[in-house]
Amino acid sequence: MPFTANRQFKAAPRLLAAAEGMYYTSDDGRRVLDGTAGLWCVNAGHGRRRITEAVERQLSTLDFAPTFQMGHPVAFDFAQRLAAIAPGGEAAGLDRVFFTNSGSESVDTALKIAIAYQRAIGQGTRTRVIGRERGYHGVGFGGITVGGLVNNRRVFPLLPGADHLRHTHDPARNAFAKGGLPEHGAELADDLERLVALHGAETIAAVIVEPMAGSTGVLLPPKGYLEKLREIAVRHGILLIFDEVITGFGRLGASFATDYFGVTPDLVTTAKGITNGTIPMGAVFASRKVHDALMTGPEAAIELFHGYTYSGHPVACAAGLATLDIYAEEGLLTRAAELAPHWEEAMHSLRDLPNVVDIRTIGLVAGIELASRKDAIGARAYDVFVDCFNKGLLIRVTGDIIALSPPLIVEKGQIDDLASTLADALKRAA
Ligand code: PMP
Repeated sequence: MPFTANRQFKAAPRLLAAAEGMYYTSDDGRRVLDGTAGLWCVNAGHGRRRITEAVERQLSTLDFAPTFQMGHPVAFDFAQRLAAIAPGGEAAGLDRVFFTNSGSESVDTALKIAIAYQRAIGQGTRTRVIGRERGYHGVGFGGITVGGLVNNRRVFPLLPGADHLRHTHDPARNAFAKGGLPEHGAELADDLERLVALHGAETIAAVIVEPMAGSTGVLLPPKGYLEKLREIAVRHGILLIFDEVITGFGRLGASFATDYFGVTPDLVTTAKGITNGTIPMGAVFASRKVHDALMTGPEAAIELFHGYTYSGHPVACAAGLATLDIYAEEGLLTRAAELAPHWEEAMHSLRDLPNVVDIRTIGLVAGIELASRKDAIGARAYDVFVDCFNKGLLIRVTGDIIALSPPLIVEKGQIDDLASTLADALKRAA
């Protein structure tokens, strides 16, 4: 099984058999509140008929079309609908779309586009990619190279020449901050300047960060950090990539984190919420500047030698179109902003419970950090996770950080249920 301690799981498996709205049903028939939107992806909640019907219709109309020298209208329709809500709006010009099948593929695709772009504008020495410590960018070789998960990086060979910014997580200065982004840490963006001095700008193609790092524990960008990173990248001809696999499609209360933070990158990676988690899909948004540079080579050359059998799969596109309809009609891309004050209060109500050392919220995301047991890092949060599941709540843990991200259709009462089940579990774990 992926990302699972297989031997431990075999001894005590947890199986989900059905899902509807805000709830899963376990295989032993218990209702489980979805505190994680599946895996940060089921933003419109489970079992949406409209998506099911669109998928059924598409399967019986055009089930597949080859991606090699052929296209189909559904992919163009979907690309155009995505372009209409592209990160940063009209002014950002991030409205060129390349389809993939996952977040990992989106990341590898964006890194390749960045390197291909540099080459197209005569900067072929720029092949180095910069990531950030504690970043998570999926499990392709590009993604683990720029990512900062040591367990992944220590085992496999990586792309040559990559380097990392330091992460911005600093509970000593920012713990329990409420009402917005952490005050301290914008200066950490100067790491990019340091890496430019170390390696030479002429070797660096791109820098990639999650505007908010989700999988490694809900790490928020300090005030001014992303702006600073943008400014340094532009000054040195380095493309800025935002990995919005988690933050895309309404998680923070705006369509994209790019909109939420008001900082515009050159490429944006997405997946997950793009089809409400139903059919695997991802997309990379590229700026017109990047797109146009790739289109300037000799006629009849292949501009970007890259793609997947299932790029822009018609069934995934149909699911995506239905998903965007739901997001628009139900106002889900901005609903997290309306719920954020209630969410923040509910999460901070856990502050005085045993072992809680930090609480961070943004949009409809929370990270609740527990003090680790000296002998077993991650064991405390894992106990809370198992206990919550047994009591009817699905949470996610990473090390000793609990990460929460309910579907964006969540009601205030369900937020309160989630907080109270979690509070009880935290008390029991102590
Ligand atoms: N980038 C980010 C920021 C992610 O959070 C994830 C998955 N959690 C990925 C990439 C990888 O996506 P996938 O698992 O779909 O390959």
